[in-house]
Amino acid sequence: MTQLELAASGQATAEIRSVAEAEGLDTEIVRRRVASGKIVIPSNRNRTKKIVGIGKGLRTKVNASIGSSTEIADIAMEVEKARIAEHYGADTLMDLSVGGNIEGIRKAVLDAISLPVGTVPLYEAFALAIEKYGAAVNMPPELLFEMIEKQCEEGVGFMAIHCGINKRTVEMLRKQHYRYGGLVSKGGSYMVAWMEHNNKENPLYEHFDRVASIMKKHDAVLSLGNGFRAGAIHDASDRVQIQEMLINCELAEAGREMGCQTMVEGPGHIPINEIEANIIMEKKMSGESPFYMLGPITTDIAPGYDHITAAIGAALSSSFGADFICYVTPSEHLGLPFPEDVREGVIASRIAAHVGDMIKHKNMHADKAMSRARRDMKWDTQFALAIDPERAKEIKAKRGNGDEHSCTMCGRFCANDILRGMFESDMNGSDKK
Ligand code: SF4
Repeated sequence: MTQLELAASGQATAEIRSVAEAEGLDTEIVRRRVASGKIVIPSNRNRTKKIVGIGKGLRTKVNASIGSSTEIADIAMEVEKARIAEHYGADTLMDLSVGGNIEGIRKAVLDAISLPVGTVPLYEAFALAIEKYGAAVNMPPELLFEMIEKQCEEGVGFMAIHCGINKRTVEMLRKQHYRYGGLVSKGGSYMVAWMEHNNKENPLYEHFDRVASIMKKHDAVLSLGNGFRAGAIHDASDRVQIQEMLINCELAEAGREMGCQTMVEGPGHIPINEIEANIIMEKKMSGESPFYMLGPITTDIAPGYDHITAAIGAALSSSFGADFICYVTPSEHLGLPFPEDVREGVIASRIAAHVGDMIKHKNMHADKAMSRARRDMKWDTQFALAIDPERAKEIKAKRGNGDEHSCTMCGRFCANDILRGMFESDMNGSDKK
């Protein structure tokens, strides 16, 4: 049985208890939310490692995506990136490899880290089809299902699968004459090309029950992929994106009814004034399935800084109720991320998730503690509370200690020293607000 089925039968599993304890929530609340599909736990029964809950009432989780391309495929580097993602606090990791030894990279990553690992099984299926049958469009549909099963058996905890692409959505895209960015999802593009070439329905939509059955058998979470997400700010929330979201929300419900844990993927590129509407729609149409935002990127004109454009979108997404965000690195739109990009992306997304959670969960405790530590110049406490203590310590050390207590920013003009003790009584330790 899956976590969803066990929870629905009244059982508070070890995984549910672990999530409740990590989040400081009542076990019964978590059990009920897992039973109703509002929380998912990607704990494939073939690989039990770190337990992470994603969904209603929980801390917003951060995913780091790594993976080879057809141009750069280095197992050691991908393992290093996975380890860096775990070290800097990612909650999950997706291996999106499309080049080199895809299976070898995935297995090495699964062995190297304890985080739940996600994949897009279409990538390996299409790569194999190119190798064996000469072109992705020659892929026999059976290969898709075999790949999902194989990756489930290896212990993949969640998979982005593009079930929401169907003939109707493709037709909508064809008729729609105002897409600036076309299709930017690799899985989505390949699937549309396959459907057009073979004049057939998407097998993952047509045989959705089979997809959900395989995932259910291993208790992997089915993440309903966003193949028509906007790849340009101008295209956000257009008819085809919303139509795919509607289908994905229907499928999320259908999967849940079968006992399969499901979540729904969101944009993409989107202006900040459309983020809330997307989250409201997804939550209402899916029965509050966990919502997985990909970034989202909030302007198209900052290549080299897309970890920042995405962090802005992620903070807003989290505050409006998104449950899970995929990081973006500074190399987005420019090249395959290197290990140092992974660190930047993870930290930027963790900051964004925290900023959103401060509003979503009305929780300012950590920020209050940091304010007190700053006022009192307790540097060790500040480092302990920092999202990236290593970076904070490095910067402080490089610039010297300044005065006895202060830092070199203001030196003897340290405001904290000048007013020490004068205004502290009202705020000292008080949590009135
Ligand atoms: S020197 Fe300036 S920046 Fe540094 S602790 Fe004092 S007030 Fe803060």
